[in-house]
Amino acid sequence: MTTPGSSTHDSSLWITNLVDGMAGLTMKVRHALYCDASPFQKIEVFDTYAFGSVLMLGGAIVLTQRDEHIYNEMITHPALLAHSAPGAVCIIGGGDGGALRETLKHDCVREAVAVDIDSMVTDTVKRYFPSLGSAFEDTRSCVAFADGCAWLEDCDRSFDVVVVDSYDPGGPVQSLETGNFFELVRGRLGDGGVAVVQTGSPELRVDHIRETIRELGTIFSWTVPYICTIPSFPSSVCSFILCGTSGSTIPEFRAERLAALAGSCRYFSGEALEGAVRLPSSMRAVFSS
Ligand code: SAM
Repeated sequence: MTTPGSSTHDSSLWITNLVDGMAGLTMKVRHALYCDASPFQKIEVFDTYAFGSVLMLGGAIVLTQRDEHIYNEMITHPALLAHSAPGAVCIIGGGDGGALRETLKHDCVREAVAVDIDSMVTDTVKRYFPSLGSAFEDTRSCVAFADGCAWLEDCDRSFDVVVVDSYDPGGPVQSLETGNFFELVRGRLGDGGVAVVQTGSPELRVDHIRETIRELGTIFSWTVPYICTIPSFPSSVCSFILCGTSGSTIPEFRAERLAALAGSCRYFSGEALEGAVRLPSSMRAVFSS
């Protein structure tokens, strides 16, 4: 007996992405492609009907073939465009190669360092997500497998942009949630440096966001929250906070470099960016409290 709309060979396997265990998204699985565990987290890859290949870390969906470009374009391009000439970029939690791929679209970038605590994430992405794994072949990119906090402490150089792509509630190592982490990020930024932090759902992570923007406001000269819609993300909205080390105003986004990106992005554009920073009233209240 098969349920309407499904055929007998369909699997009965579903994966879910819950927030606080109470509500979330569920996806029907065609095949389970990979399941293993690193010393830090469970790592799984599923082929799903609605979102293509899906990477799960520690039981949470972190990217899908269908909409990873939205997240990776939106976490990367606003920050790089907010800097006058980003030559050196660091991506904390960048082991899946997504933000790295987007960073390398900027011709002014000379080097991009992805720091991830888990080398198995990168191995898995190279095998099952070639559109992400290809970023590691670029001669300008390199990967450091280490705790992001410890790596920044030991690092004796500066960057123009730091992307903090490791928002991972209950993730493998909580060092990135500690008070001095953002101080460390600030300390590794050169003059005019820019950082971006992913802050999760502005509907479901209100307390986390309030704490994060308050803290960033004490460390950086300016902060700009923005959002994007990602179908596979809990509540379908993901927020970010852009922050800068100098000046008191928000940088103008550089028109000529925006134009250079136009053909290579599927979601990001000047208009998308303008809309992203214009928050709905309820979300504006979360970021300005
Ligand atoms: N790019 C993902 C996405 O599209 O949603 C978000 C990143 S994923 C949730 C978090 C990444 O940060 C994982 O690759 C994880 O291994 C890494 N990570 C977690 N804790 C870390 C730490 N303390 N230092 C460095 N990387 C860490």
